Amino acid sequence: MERLLCSKREGSVLIIDGSEFRHLRALRLKEGENLEVFCEDRLFLAKISRITNGYALCSILEELKTPPAGPYVVLYQCIPLDLSLMEEAIDMASQSGAAKLVPLFCKRGFQVKSKVEEKMERWKRISLASFKQCKRPRPMEIENPISLADLHPGEEVSLVLDNFGGGLSIKEIDLSKESYGIVVGPEGGFSQEEVELLKNRGFKPVLLKPYIYRAQMAGAVATALIMNLAKRM
Ligand code: SAH
Repeated sequence: MERLLCSKREGSVLIIDGSEFRHLRALRLKEGENLEVFCEDRLFLAKISRITNGYALCSILEELKTPPAGPYVVLYQCIPLDLSLMEEAIDMASQSGAAKLVPLFCKRGFQVKSKVEEKMERWKRISLASFKQCKRPRPMEIENPISLADLHPGEEVSLVLDNFGGGLSIKEIDLSKESYGIVVGPEGGFSQEEVELLKNRGFKPVLLKPYIYRAQMAGAVATALIMNLAKRM
């Protein structure tokens, strides 16, 4: 079933306009058809009751309350020098099932805070577009960026993806926990000091097999493996 985002809700009526309305037209949806509508942070099953020139009205049939599958994975993604790679990282992380992505400033990554702040809205839109496509029960959240130097373990299992130093394989991680934090480097990798800092703080190094992934893919691969292998599915 198609999924669209509302612009506002009036009682039991959800209003779809703007680019979402254009998407509805492109999908050739008709009055009387059902669709999923994400509105004010909730997901509804709704029926299209009216389509006009510029907007559609949908009546709520029921609220869809699907629990997220698998454990809670937070991806701490170093912001790549090439900012467009962050968009790929967000899209792939969302598809893989990460609950939240936290952009990180790191030594070999993009450092200009004001530029990153300007991108936040676009990054959130990419997360919403992915949520529509992959049918996850909730959009992946994108948190405000922080510096790697300020990062401390916040989840039950804290991992740093380290293709240099090596470390545990995914199979050696305790896959029975509720929450996982995964730190991923930028295109040029972490500096040695950054990896040491994270390890000293309790992040366990993990080596993904068999080769080296691009920065925008590594986090999604680790997340997908954890989501699929976790005992709590
Ligand atoms: N240019 C670096 C590669 C960076 S890949 C090099 O030559 O080594 C970008 C990031 O993805 C890395 O910092 C790491 O966090 C993650 N990564 C990529 N492949 C990985 C692997 N096989 N195992 C663990 N982490 C990996």
